[in-house]
Amino acid sequence: MNNLLKKYFGFDEFRPLQADIINNVMSGKDGFVLMPTGGGKSLCYQLPALALSGVTLVVSPLIALMKDQVDALKANGIAAEFINSTLTSEQISEICNRARAGEVKILYIAPERFALSSFKDFLASLEISLIAVDEAHCISEWGHDFRPDYRNLNQLKAMFPSVPAIALTATATIKVREDIIRQLHLEKAPIFISSFNRENLHIRVVEKKQAFYKLVEILKNHSGESVIIYCFSRKDTEEIAHNLVLNGFKARAYHAGLEANERKLVQELFIKDKVGIIVATIAFGMGIDKSDVRLVVHYTFPKSLEGYYQEIGRAGRDGLESECVLFYTYADARKHEFFIKQIDDAQQARLSEEKLNQVLEYCSLTTCRKKYLLNYFGEQQQADECQSCDCCTEVKEKFDGTEITQKILSAVIRTQNRFGKNYVIDVLLGRKNQKVLLNHHDELSVFGIVKDFSEHELGQLTTELINRGYLLKSAGEYPIISISKKGQEFLLNNETLELIKPQVDKTATKAKSKGKIEHNPELFESLRELRKTMAEEANVPPFVIFSDASLREMAHYLPIDKEAFSKISGVGAKKLEQFGDDFTRLIKVFVKEHGLSPEPLPAKTKVFEADIVKVAHPQYYAKTKELLQKKIPLARIAKNQNLKPITVINHLEKMIDAGERIDLEYLKLPRDRYEVMCRAFHEFGDEKLKPVFEYLSGRYTYDELQLARLLNRL
Ligand code: ADP
Ligand code: MG
Ligand code: ZN
Repeated sequence: MNNLLKKYFGFDEFRPLQADIINNVMSGKDGFVLMPTGGGKSLCYQLPALALSGVTLVVSPLIALMKDQVDALKANGIAAEFINSTLTSEQISEICNRARAGEVKILYIAPERFALSSFKDFLASLEISLIAVDEAHCISEWGHDFRPDYRNLNQLKAMFPSVPAIALTATATIKVREDIIRQLHLEKAPIFISSFNRENLHIRVVEKKQAFYKLVEILKNHSGESVIIYCFSRKDTEEIAHNLVLNGFKARAYHAGLEANERKLVQELFIKDKVGIIVATIAFGMGIDKSDVRLVVHYTFPKSLEGYYQEIGRAGRDGLESECVLFYTYADARKHEFFIKQIDDAQQARLSEEKLNQVLEYCSLTTCRKKYLLNYFGEQQQADECQSCDCCTEVKEKFDGTEITQKILSAVIRTQNRFGKNYVIDVLLGRKNQKVLLNHHDELSVFGIVKDFSEHELGQLTTELINRGYLLKSAGEYPIISISKKGQEFLLNNETLELIKPQVDKTATKAKSKGKIEHNPELFESLRELRKTMAEEANVPPFVIFSDASLREMAHYLPIDKEAFSKISGVGAKKLEQFGDDFTRLIKVFVKEHGLSPEPLPAKTKVFEADIVKVAHPQYYAKTKELLQKKIPLARIAKNQNLKPITVINHLEKMIDAGERIDLEYLKLPRDRYEVMCRAFHEFGDEKLKPVFEYLSGRYTYDELQLARLLNRL
């Protein structure tokens, strides 16, 4: 299995639980997998699929995702296909034929197929070795994403009693979990649950004041990276996207009100790294499997912690450090409250309100946010501090809070434990509003007793007193605060207390990252450029070629030959063959020009044998070849394919290396210029272009030089 892992996926190690799950599958048993987003669920069925003899069926609800996943598998040299409603019946029957002939290893199918008897007949004609139900929570009405079509899957076990089945999901409460197991008849299956702690996510909550300014500051720290910003309404998304564009960012709005085509376009721009920032309502995300999202912003706060956790889970699926920022203001809660009030079902309304209150509480925490979240999802975090949330990492200045605590607690008692936080604060600040006057609270000794804290600061201090148990807060729509036993004892015993100094403003600085490998940022950028070009040529999203994690390793270890390149995480046999030359060439040039020396890569898994089928001319050169045969000028060939001339010349070089016979006579450069360049090559050698370029004082462009070198070598 380790060999297959390296050969096809280019990884050296399994992530937690992957090996256990795979062993379980390989021993022919069913399984149930609960793993957070980005945990690496796909591998749990993709790897066994390669080791087993027949075909593996994968049921997945997201038609949009299927193509990307299949493309990614194909890029790794794995025979994968999908069948869903986007294909014509001819295409489908072709795939069916190939599957019957044993030419497909992994077959993705949409759940509604199981309603067709012809499809069931087709399945019966296959040798099926494993069935995987991905996003399995879709089968449960209790889940947040129920798909009626998934109900068809309850026949699976009856149809294929002896085939192991594995169900996978990232979100399942106990109720949903039981539902999945019952519906899919997996009662006997072992359950694999991995921790929901995502250590690479740095989370923080910032006050929503001057929010747009802060947003821009945060985005500046993520330039060129993929970012999702969640907003409350369609209007908000459009407005913010528009303002970001005005500020020079590449941003697009995404919401359910857009036409299907437009939605598809925006998703594609994002996936292909053409637009870095998506400003979306929660409608965005389910259809996206982008592993290198570096920042998720909640511009309006979410209506439940479940939703929040799932949304921030879309950051950093590749395991690299990523940031999650939530903008918090109580005013936003009122927007949600407004909608909750429209809910007719009283029980439902109460539930929604409770969920909203939990988000509010989460926002006002002064203790570890991750601990709170994990507790909320029923998991115990050992340490009190995670070191990756703002509460743990930002230095909190303390002050002697004895006096202000006495004042706040007294005010709560004097107003008879009957009012909310804001009312108590009004009294403390001496505000003569109507309610205060009616209650004669302007006559209390605590009225106007606080002079040295603002309303906002008092709010934070009061929240801390609630969090630390000196005050109690009732549940419900208008929570009332009252003194607790601990609070009473504090006053009675004249205790002292240190409080966290109220924060005026949390600056919008980037979370400190740790554990990240140092890499050359300039080279990283060039590698990303190259990846983008290759992705365009192959018409796949860039991350299908290599993940950011792989590029960073390249920019750190500087592999300049294929041997070293094969050790980079994410480089399997197929990708080594297909992309190794281009990437190592770029790195080689960079290393030479900057006088760097490559780092030896740590000896990891045994590198796969070179039993690789040679891909002579990747199909994407076909177009270039066709245009060359028509004797189209180079510049136009490049333009036609939206490529840089240098890329076309690269194609040419490769085609010629591969023994392709192409008539390049017509490309010849003006004789005199060509001869000058050839002489320079003779003088300086043609390995490096830079010395020649410099010798000729820049009168010849790199494109020209590269073409001349090619012709000169023929
Ligand atoms: P999930 O379906 O659980 O959300 P995926 O299967 O999409 O997660 O995997 C998330 C990311 O983790 C992908 O980019 C995948 O390539 C990567 N990944 C999975 N397993 C490993 C591994 N053993 N080593 C390194 N990266 C891995
Ligand atoms: Mg998945
Ligand atoms: Zn923490």
